[in-house]
Amino acid sequence: MKELTQLVRKNVLKMKPYSSARNEYQGDASVFLDANENPFDSGYNRYPDPYQWKVKERISVLKGVPKEMILLGNGSDEPIDLLIRVFCDPGKDAITSISPSYGMYEVSAEVNNVEFRKVPLTSDFELNADELLRVAGTDSKLIFLCSPNNPTGNNLSEKEIRKVLTQFEGLVIIDEAYIDFSAALSYTLKLEQYPNLVVLQTFSKAWAAAAVRLGMAFASPEIISLLNKIKYPYNINQLTQEYALRLLAGEDRMKEQLVQILKGRTELDRKLRDIACVKKIYPSDANFILVRVTDANGIYHRLVEKGIIVRNRTNVALCEGCLRITVGTEEENRILLDELEKIEI
Ligand SMILES: *Cc1c(COP(=O)(O)O)cnc(C)c1O
Repeated sequence: MKELTQLVRKNVLKMKPYSSARNEYQGDASVFLDANENPFDSGYNRYPDPYQWKVKERISVLKGVPKEMILLGNGSDEPIDLLIRVFCDPGKDAITSISPSYGMYEVSAEVNNVEFRKVPLTSDFELNADELLRVAGTDSKLIFLCSPNNPTGNNLSEKEIRKVLTQFEGLVIIDEAYIDFSAALSYTLKLEQYPNLVVLQTFSKAWAAAAVRLGMAFASPEIISLLNKIKYPYNINQLTQEYALRLLAGEDRMKEQLVQILKGRTELDRKLRDIACVKKIYPSDANFILVRVTDANGIYHRLVEKGIIVRNRTNVALCEGCLRITVGTEEENRILLDELEKIEI
């Protein structure tokens, strides 16, 4: 890895971050007259903790990652954007990722006028590290990987990821939005080993809180400090911080739902095998299954007519003819299977 100071944009390195009232005085007092807040207590009249330490303390225990190595954002979207803005000079640097994968990396790169390069996965959706490193070259600052990958559902090979982590000079971001559904270990366990690693996780999937918009980034304290430097001072509001603490206290419920979703995935996979219009079921380490069907557009529209919405991925490279099906409740899965069974080929 290059020195962090060589990777960071010069303007970010030099700038002085906004210093809020809550930054300048932290701690307890009886009279707060420093932030021009309304003094009448509504529960929400005060600015929230800009670094969300209470939430991070809980996450730290849960994940075994020190709280200085955690950044919280408005979904995973925010850390994706922050990483690009800290490290990539618009019109100069590049980002490299895999294809097919999550669409937000490219959108965020485009918003920031940063060149986005994609390297196709192999036909069995595996990562080719040598090719990725070749395309990334020396002018890519960031590599985005996603494991388990969306929309393919598989974990990328550990060996190939290790090669990227050890050989790439810039930062490697591993998006683990679906890690809770996978038997693989999280790369958060490798943060000490790889100073150029950033791991993204989210409350949007396993934690049943997509509407809350809360994402996590895990990285070295130095990388987290840089992201903190440019984030909106109060990027996570008080309501969200409170809700996150409630969610984290209900870890058991999350685990119960996880068991049900994994059971649902196994059953859905098994039952899809007997359906005539299904040509191929890709193995999944996530809470969705990618399925190749006889006529993706026709079947997609027929399901829509019945009020069942899946994701049509037929126009995505390497996913021709494929639908991406999220594992629902037992009843939702049955409704879907009943409709698919009726389709004649
Ligand atoms: C769903 C998903 C996310 C979650 O994004 P949020 O902004 O946290 O809701 C992140 N990455 C991938 C690959 C996803 O599929």
